[in-house]
Amino acid sequence: MTAPTLQQVTSCLSDYDPDALPVRDAQRIIGNFVTPVAEVEQLTLLDALGRVLADDIISPISVPAHDNSAMDGYALRAADLDPAAPTTLAVIATVYAGRPSDAVPAAGQCVRIMTGGVMPAGCDCVIPQEHVASISDESITIDAGVIRSGDNRRFAGEDLMAGSAALKAGRTIRPADLGLLASLGIASVPVRRRLRVAFFSTGDELRSIGQPLDAGCVYDSNRYTLFGMLSRLGCEVIDMGIVRDDPQALEDALRSACARADAIVTSGGVSVGAADYTRDIMAKMGDVTFWKIGMRPGRPLAFGRIAADGESAFLFGLPGNPVAVMVSFYFFARAALLRMMGTEAPQLLLKVRSAAAIRKKPGRTEYQRGILTCGADGEQEVRITGSQGSGILRSMVEANCMVVLHDEQGNVAAGDLVEVLLFEGLV
Ligand code: AMP
Ligand code: MG
Repeated sequence: MTAPTLQQVTSCLSDYDPDALPVRDAQRIIGNFVTPVAEVEQLTLLDALGRVLADDIISPISVPAHDNSAMDGYALRAADLDPAAPTTLAVIATVYAGRPSDAVPAAGQCVRIMTGGVMPAGCDCVIPQEHVASISDESITIDAGVIRSGDNRRFAGEDLMAGSAALKAGRTIRPADLGLLASLGIASVPVRRRLRVAFFSTGDELRSIGQPLDAGCVYDSNRYTLFGMLSRLGCEVIDMGIVRDDPQALEDALRSACARADAIVTSGGVSVGAADYTRDIMAKMGDVTFWKIGMRPGRPLAFGRIAADGESAFLFGLPGNPVAVMVSFYFFARAALLRMMGTEAPQLLLKVRSAAAIRKKPGRTEYQRGILTCGADGEQEVRITGSQGSGILRSMVEANCMVVLHDEQGNVAAGDLVEVLLFEGLV
């Protein structure tokens, strides 16, 4: 599949303005521009966790394969029971899980059965052992009205029917999926190959851990947050270090990244104050656009596709401020990278009460760092971390969620519902 040009994609927007681009439009353009990796590999189940399924998996068998008992008890025919008085039934056999029996109870008879045992022919329900009024070696007595046809009976195929799609292509494989595949006896599955993402930081003021921190310099933290976010997505990461604010160094890095990766994520050098050559070089190497997005933090963003020596890669030029780079990654790069991996970002926004008022200007999206807790009344509520400056990484560490205040939203009053995206998920 060949990607469309950015111009083709942006022409769908009636009032496209790269200098005042709404978040939703930028997300849509990026989503429409990227294409998924095509290569597929076959992996054994234990290696497939977290990978993206490349084809539908059709169930080769029904699960369970037979009607079976949901309880330890006695399998019987409900029609044999007296609706008005206790009934005594003879116990003619015992069925254990994994050891079906040929015994077919006649009228007035039943079969002792364990959980998972195959239902004997003719029986339509199971009375749990603890509901039987009296039990002897040869018979049981059941009070009227304690059991009905169908009770405690699991049906063949109630989990999955043979021939149905057990899992759909595009799914990121989770623990339950592994179990389901195992229950079907499937040993390996086709998955898309891992997405290769190269990343580097730009800036003459950046120092790597282990180097002395010269006057006016800062340690490069973005490469570590990017490493963490990309690794969590399941990408194969290619750490290209720090690239100086130098045209040749930047071009060399981008060329090398093109050869090695499907996508390139850079931080720094895309804001207005930055040296012009960052833009010039990115633009010279392909189809790249520079946006000012209606958001806070993180207004500047470069996006497109560059090519060198016959290899191309999608480019995400994120801003340099440590919080801005994370927010831009989470709200622009992440969904696009997932799409390139062959899957879609799950929609996990929750609506939660704001514990306090939040000042918000309409006309732009604000991503505030939030702490979601249980309020005094037992209901969840969110409060924003103190300072929301785009350089204050500590606020990302303290937060357990992002509060997303959309363009239309104005000031939030205490008690209003706001949208929240949790950092942590169960699977
Ligand atoms: P820039 O987008 O290059 O203008 O950078 C904006 C701000 O973010 C500057 O204060 C930079 O020092 C800081 N910054 C840029 N890159 C990094 C990085 N990799 N690690 C930490 N801070 C950075
Ligand atoms: Mg810079």
